[in-house]
Amino acid sequence: MRYISTRGQAAPRDFEAVLLAGLAEDGGLFVPETWPTLTPAEWRALRGLPYADLAARILSLFGAGGLPLEAMCRDAYAGFGHAAVVPLVQLDHRTFALELFHGPTLAFKDMALQLLGRMFDHVLEKRGERVTIVGATSGDTGSAAIEACRDRSAVDIVILHPENRTSEVQRRQMTTVLAPNVKNIAVQGDFDACQDLVKAMFNDAPFRAEMKLSAVNSINWARIAAQIPYYVAAALALGAPDREVAVSVPTGNFGNVLAAWAARRMGLPISHFVIGSNRNDILARFLASNDMSAKPVEPSLSPSMDIQVSSNFERLLFELLGRDAAATAEAMTRFRAEGRMPVPDAAWKQATALFRGFTLDDAGTLAEIRHLWTSSGYLADPHTAVGTAAARALAPADPAVPAIVAATAHPAKFPDAVERATGFRPPLPARLADLYEREERFSVLADDLGVIEAAVRAHARRNAA
Ligand SMILES: *Cc1c(COP(=O)(O)O)cnc(C)c1O
Repeated sequence: MRYISTRGQAAPRDFEAVLLAGLAEDGGLFVPETWPTLTPAEWRALRGLPYADLAARILSLFGAGGLPLEAMCRDAYAGFGHAAVVPLVQLDHRTFALELFHGPTLAFKDMALQLLGRMFDHVLEKRGERVTIVGATSGDTGSAAIEACRDRSAVDIVILHPENRTSEVQRRQMTTVLAPNVKNIAVQGDFDACQDLVKAMFNDAPFRAEMKLSAVNSINWARIAAQIPYYVAAALALGAPDREVAVSVPTGNFGNVLAAWAARRMGLPISHFVIGSNRNDILARFLASNDMSAKPVEPSLSPSMDIQVSSNFERLLFELLGRDAAATAEAMTRFRAEGRMPVPDAAWKQATALFRGFTLDDAGTLAEIRHLWTSSGYLADPHTAVGTAAARALAPADPAVPAIVAATAHPAKFPDAVERATGFRPPLPARLADLYEREERFSVLADDLGVIEAAVRAHARRNAA
């Protein structure tokens, strides 16, 4: 299996090269040259597999077969807090929460990153290479990246967070990881300062080359691939391929919903997709009126969806445009320049036939958390609540079609919002119950590129001696 760029100007690559490259050199995103498809009999044969084995089977269809997939998937999901890895919980007569938050950091990014950390390490070791991953976090993604990279032999990781501006849970999820290849830096500045420092390090070409800087960001194809199996698992459990299902996803960068779309492209009978947004509603506006225009990001109770430019949308656009790379490149360039993406009417109509947009404000989100709690005794985090409300509002016309909602974070990760809605704070799961007693390790450093680069260099160099 080879991968091509959505902008058509990069040489095709195999899975491992795409894993290491992330973004294509023409600025586009890698997609499979052809999509693997399964017959109904082949889908049925996957029923009943343990999750790790199912994931290995699906990933092998995407050209990852050169990796020891079965062992890797078993290892990646062994530490999850639920034997099913991704349990389905029924919320009402036709809505099911697909819980993706049983990993080490209690959010769905662990599903892909736990696997990616192992894939990175394996491929780098094989090639005799090392990388230094740097990233900035306002709280949530940093911990998933740190957990994915801890104790990996070919990877060092440095995560910058703004001093005193993350919640204590978020900080402790990062700073209590005492693995020697992990370094946390609390920057004396805000999140923007952290992001600027990371950008400046990547723009410092000699430093970037010396440290072999890398990132595990959400445009990496391997992350999408690793998110396909859980939709397969849920759909099979509910009767696919002999029964249609709908899928509702609380959406930010469009990666999670794109993985669901990929499952449909492979032949899984998904009737349609519901895209849940908070007040940052660019995707809902696009679907309602073909208005894909960026507005300033506004904070909400579901911060991981506080995004205006959904970077993975480019992969869907490429497909909607009949895989016309030149047209995709032009649309993306104009979006960058003008803040508004011109999508031809025919492509937009195709999108609206398959995707439905739904927006929920903070008050609606709190009401939905309360509703789930009082009607079913289910505690949802604010992101998941956007997804469940969306699924109910835009349920399929056929009542025999169940809706799968991606439950993307554990409620204990957002205790303030849950307390506002229900009156109590959800407890951390037992395996994290001692988080507040664990030893923390981090450096507090000035918002100064020279100071930060020196710290990254010292961290990456400690092995070289
Ligand atoms: C990242 C994240 C999302 C958004 O997922 P995308 O793949 O960016 O659309 C939703 N909920 C939570 C809790 C997240 O961490």
